Amino acid sequence: MIELSVAEALDRAAELTDVSDSPRADIEMLLCEVLDKPRSWLFTWPDKVLSAEQQMRFEQLLMRRVQGTPIAHLLGYRDFWTLRLKVSPDTLIPRPDTETLVEQALALLPDQPARVADLGTGTGAIALALASERPQWQLVATDLHPGAVSLARENAQACGLSNVEIRQGSWCEPLSGHFDMIVSNPPYIDPDDPHLDQGDVRFEPLSALTAEEKGMADIRTIAEQARALLQPGGWLLFEHGYDQGELVRHLLQALGYVQVCTHRDLGDNDRVTLG
Ligand code: GLN
Repeated sequence: MIELSVAEALDRAAELTDVSDSPRADIEMLLCEVLDKPRSWLFTWPDKVLSAEQQMRFEQLLMRRVQGTPIAHLLGYRDFWTLRLKVSPDTLIPRPDTETLVEQALALLPDQPARVADLGTGTGAIALALASERPQWQLVATDLHPGAVSLARENAQACGLSNVEIRQGSWCEPLSGHFDMIVSNPPYIDPDDPHLDQGDVRFEPLSALTAEEKGMADIRTIAEQARALLQPGGWLLFEHGYDQGELVRHLLQALGYVQVCTHRDLGDNDRVTLG
């Protein structure tokens, strides 16, 4: 086997240009994982040579990445908000855009006790981020899929968050009592969207990505169910597609929600609508 230095390993990012939007960041993350070092180490020691074992592991991970496996699945985790969350093929991989929903939820309710529900929680990302920022809130997170429920519970425990309860069931069904806020990042992609054949989404469950009615069916179901569970003055927040802001605003208004408005994500796309 020919020796491989850190600098040479970083140059292998060139092999990822077809499969990844961020080849350089991907290769850095794989290398940090294999070497068990922080990112800064890579630039301090460019001439260090990988051990045979490290090189073999690096080649294996790189090969799987070239074949399309998401970085988060290769590493087994994804950082979201301030938390490191375990991920699995059972759920969506948390995305930076979803932090917009967390920011809006925190901004809406002042620093007081509140009951908050997160529907279709997946890894638990939104519920756990909120629980970590607001220890005085009581979070209830639901998910239909047992694999997601156990993953979210595992993440809650690993993050040391005891103010989150994860329940199995469809959207609002496992909930009782009233809530000050209900949030959700439901499936919202049109099942015919050609982007489903590209990138990380190929490795995520379709049940977490797509919904009938051009992606609107689950948003509609949740908006209808949530009305009965919200306190007077309570808030409903959705993440949705960049082109669904107007549809979601109209839906919420038709169902009697008021103060309906849409916020943009880091890429300046409509992403979160609340009412
Ligand atoms: N924003 C994600 C994507 O476009 C989809 C997330 C979702 O369906 N909730 O890949």
